[in-house]
Amino acid sequence: MAFANGNDFAENLIDGLSAKELVDSGNGITYSDLIILPGYIDFVPQEVELKCRLTKRICLNAPLASSPMDTVTESDMAVALALSGGIGIIHHNCLPEYQASEVQKVKKYKHGFIRDPIVLSPNDTIADVLQIKERYGFCGIPITENGKLGGKLVGMVTSRDIDFLDKSRELTLDKIMTKLEDLVTAPSGIKLSDANAILQKNKKGKLPIVSASGNLDALIARTDLKKAKNYPLSAKDDNKQLLVGAAISTREEDKHRLGLLVQAGVDVIVLDSSQGNSVYQVDMIKFIKRTYPQLDVIAGNVVTKKQAKNLIDAGADGLRVGMGSGSICITQEVMAVGRAQVTAVYKVAEYAAKHGVPVIADGGISSIGHIIKALSLGASAVMMGSMLAGTTEAPGEYFYADGVRLKKYRGMGSIEAMTRADNKGSAMSRYFHNESDQLKVAQGVSGSIADKGSVMNYIPYLITGIKHGLQDIGARSLKQLKEMMEREELRFELRSHSAQQEGNVHGLFSYEKRLY
Ligand code: GDP
Ligand code: GDP
Ligand code: 5GP
Repeated sequence: MAFANGNDFAENLIDGLSAKELVDSGNGITYSDLIILPGYIDFVPQEVELKCRLTKRICLNAPLASSPMDTVTESDMAVALALSGGIGIIHHNCLPEYQASEVQKVKKYKHGFIRDPIVLSPNDTIADVLQIKERYGFCGIPITENGKLGGKLVGMVTSRDIDFLDKSRELTLDKIMTKLEDLVTAPSGIKLSDANAILQKNKKGKLPIVSASGNLDALIARTDLKKAKNYPLSAKDDNKQLLVGAAISTREEDKHRLGLLVQAGVDVIVLDSSQGNSVYQVDMIKFIKRTYPQLDVIAGNVVTKKQAKNLIDAGADGLRVGMGSGSICITQEVMAVGRAQVTAVYKVAEYAAKHGVPVIADGGISSIGHIIKALSLGASAVMMGSMLAGTTEAPGEYFYADGVRLKKYRGMGSIEAMTRADNKGSAMSRYFHNESDQLKVAQGVSGSIADKGSVMNYIPYLITGIKHGLQDIGARSLKQLKEMMEREELRFELRSHSAQQEGNVHGLFSYEKRLY
């Protein structure tokens, strides 16, 4: 390693600052204020390992999470992130039922076994199949005697059975389904790899899994086999379902929301407050730990050690760090409270590390460099809003302004988000029912972001960039990066204003900045 071993001292090779010296050197600092000094390279970027912990118990294959914001994360974003190795946190500016169904969509997406497939009965009609296809996008449907999962399997309807039958919508499925005797099925308890082998051998699109008495247990889709191969980084639970998180508030009524989210299979709950060090949050953490001991809780947001201590003592499994650093955020301006993000991340991570609690750097990330800096200062993962807004998978429609294709991006504390009125229902507006609550003080703004294309292309770019950064630093893994920081081998420097200018493109008449 290049820094701070005995020889370095002997030969006076110590250069730059340790993370501690950097942060303790005075004012609050943020990503642009610092630069990391390069290390020694003896490996290629592809070898860099980006496994990390999101919470005490949940691991990710890439240190990336999406913000629980109504212009960032619903099921499409969460699926894309989990397929890419990270995790999406579904926002809560909607009715509890809507949020739970978004969680369920992620959990239902591409797991080895579809454990709750949609099932019809022989007396249902082609119209029913077409309706399912329109609503969910698939039409490979097992047919059981009673039309329910667990009923006796009698057949299967697939797109090929209905392709040419559009006109006879009232035809019942017993007339067109592939009958049981012609189906390839597999017994309950079969291993996924064996089931996959059967699908490959028989060239079928679906494999119903049936119990010894012939009742339908589950379904396997061939398309999922193909996807599993394409997304080797997918962040999954033990059941091979994609990981997903959801945010809730600390209000009493959100205990009902929490129940629905748990039923839908949520993996981790994020308690969403801009100032998390409150009696409400401590109570909610304790309630969750008592009621759902298997569920991990990310508490926050915090920016000081003392705030962190309260939430860790209450049982938090992870901490979200950042107050007022978000791109859409006006908290520091309006409330006069908050902290510069690098100082916040380092201070909280330093304390939380002693208790084995991972820290997520939330807000203010606007480039790969910022991600690398956050991880170098002790964060286990980063949470992004603006970086992921404006993508295909972000909620909302594209619109044009001055010929540019845009999507809306807004702070959850903006007046617009707090008074959301559409068919998803506003979670926030019902908090303002009494007189004293009527006057809202905005902590965020509403704006727009240019079309970035699909997250499925963008995240691989981020991941590759992070690997290159770690290579320059001389860290083969995020684990090693953290160890280097703690041993003070990782060296930093503060950048003057002109050093920051020098570090950006300068002196050109014009240029095109294409990132990938
Ligand atoms: P189909 O041939 O029209 O059924 O569609 P595909 O098999 O190409 O894709 C269906 C996708 O939806 C797969 O990724 C499934 O895992 C997923 N899926 C989730 N829930 C269900 C379900 O209840 N039934 C079916 N058939 N697919 C489901
Ligand atoms: P924030 O604006 O992002 O911090 O959102 P919160 O919902 O966490 O907090 C909004 C305000 O409501 C703050 O003043 C909190 O202290 C307060 N608050 C949060 N949870 C509760 C609760 O369960 N009961 C009551 N009475 N107030 C709460
Ligand atoms: P970004 O990645 O865009 O810089 O910041 C996203 C983060 O900003 C979110 O994860 C959340 O912590 C925070 N945030 C979202 N909406 C608001 C808001 O209206 N006000 C404040 N203060 N922070 C917000």
